[in-house]
Amino acid sequence: MDKDYIVFGKPEILDAEIDEVVDSLRKNWLGTGPKVKRFEQQFADYKKVDFSQVAAVNSCTAALHLSLLAAGIRPGDEVITTAMTFCATVNAIIHAGATPVLVDVLPDTFNIDPAAIEDRITESTRAIVPVHYSGNPCDMEAIMKIASRHDLKVIEDCAHALESDFRGQPLGTFGDYGCFSFYATKNITTGEGGMVIAKSPEAINRIKTLALHGMSTDAWARFSDDGYKHYQVTQAGFKYNMMDLQAAIGIHQLERIEANWEKRRALFARYHQAFADLPVQLPVAEDDMGRSAYHLFPILLHDSAAVSRDEFMVKAHNEGIGTGVHYLSIPTHEFYKNAFGWNENDFPVAQTIGQSTVSLPFSPSLGESEIIRIIDTTRRILTT
Ligand SMILES: *Cc1c(COP(=O)(O)O)cnc(C)c1O
Repeated sequence: MDKDYIVFGKPEILDAEIDEVVDSLRKNWLGTGPKVKRFEQQFADYKKVDFSQVAAVNSCTAALHLSLLAAGIRPGDEVITTAMTFCATVNAIIHAGATPVLVDVLPDTFNIDPAAIEDRITESTRAIVPVHYSGNPCDMEAIMKIASRHDLKVIEDCAHALESDFRGQPLGTFGDYGCFSFYATKNITTGEGGMVIAKSPEAINRIKTLALHGMSTDAWARFSDDGYKHYQVTQAGFKYNMMDLQAAIGIHQLERIEANWEKRRALFARYHQAFADLPVQLPVAEDDMGRSAYHLFPILLHDSAAVSRDEFMVKAHNEGIGTGVHYLSIPTHEFYKNAFGWNENDFPVAQTIGQSTVSLPFSPSLGESEIIRIIDTTRRILTT
């Protein structure tokens, strides 16, 4: 690939991360150990929760799956989520044995429409999984009210929302569980990785047991110098634990999170200004709902734009700029259509977003000349 190609979602890996990984390798400690613990403590401090309320796992998908199981979701249950999310949100619900039920989104934030949630609640509904799209907070006041009225669990998909809050309270701390992603393109990365925040230490113990083969939680102490300990398998669990090699990267990523958030915020403002006159809908800025993590910069092309969304992506690629789609709406995928009989036309807002938006490169590691190229190329493709 051309060395000048601007990759979409390029992570920022500095010497601190590289040295920390090498340190783990030299110490011969690769798996779950002291660095995972350090990363969990650092994460808990950042989100203003206790160490006993967090568990590191190997992806946000794992975090969602285990949270649903720990919340007691079982086959036959229905779980409400948004039609505008990554497939992992819906797959986790399916893997928990439950039936996903979709709700359309709001046209400005692309977040689940709280007013439409209640219409979809039945006797079988047990949980709501809101997704804070691009890090813009969902209306957690409205969602928590609905949940408490109908006695539903809430599991927040915070894959985009690491730095976000709703009216001052960190996202992921409203629901019973909050699930975070450290995938390579997310605001901080561990390569692959995830984290769960739970309201109670008991819930975190359930998660930790499920994340490690269903072995009793003190089995985590097996990864220490204290000598051999017997463990009991208490249920058929999974293999979802985070490695020290991953935490080694995350520790230093988390140290820079606020500095990089400032860069994202500045780039957001700059793109907004540069594209204000284009035939596109720009992503909403922060409002009184709270702080955004500024995870993505999706532009929604109006019909009056010079090209379609797909043509835009091809042209941008040919000019050395990688872009992304977040996301095709969930019911457009054949598998879900066949499994649940969904029709994308029943979710018109998500459908339009899926057909007409493209996410521009939006990483704090972009250099000045790259930003100028992205702006100039985007303007040119959309106007000529
Ligand atoms: C990335 C993402 C996930 C999955 O995260 P992984 O860590 O890759 O498993 C889930 N939900 C949303 C909204 C995401 O963007």
